[in-house]
Amino acid sequence: MISLPERLGLMEKSLRLLQEELGQVRREAKTLEEENRRLRRQLCWLGDDGSRRQPGLPGEDDPRPAPDGDIARPARENLARLYQEGFHICHQLFGREREEECLFCQGLLRK
Ligand SMILES: [Zn+2]
Repeated sequence: MISLPERLGLMEKSLRLLQEELGQVRREAKTLEEENRRLRRQLCWLGDDGSRRQPGLPGEDDPRPAPDGDIARPARENLARLYQEGFHICHQLFGREREEECLFCQGLLRK
């Protein structure tokens, strides 16, 4: 039988390990979340036939709109879908989960 101080020592040790693991999981979650946002953002600038294009490589027919231009139609549909699925599409909070209606997002969709 292990003595109480020994058991406490063991518990402390495993607690430390758990904390380290938790920190690692948190970092991973953060990385994945950022990756997710990036991918959603990218998806929005591609049509459903996005396979035609190399994501992330701006080409001559870059589907991104000119700063003052209109959003391309497939991109707009993707944005609308993303919004319906419960994510922000506004610049402020793009790709974050949306808990309620967002006026900025709706403004974008109405354009
Ligand atoms: Zn929003």
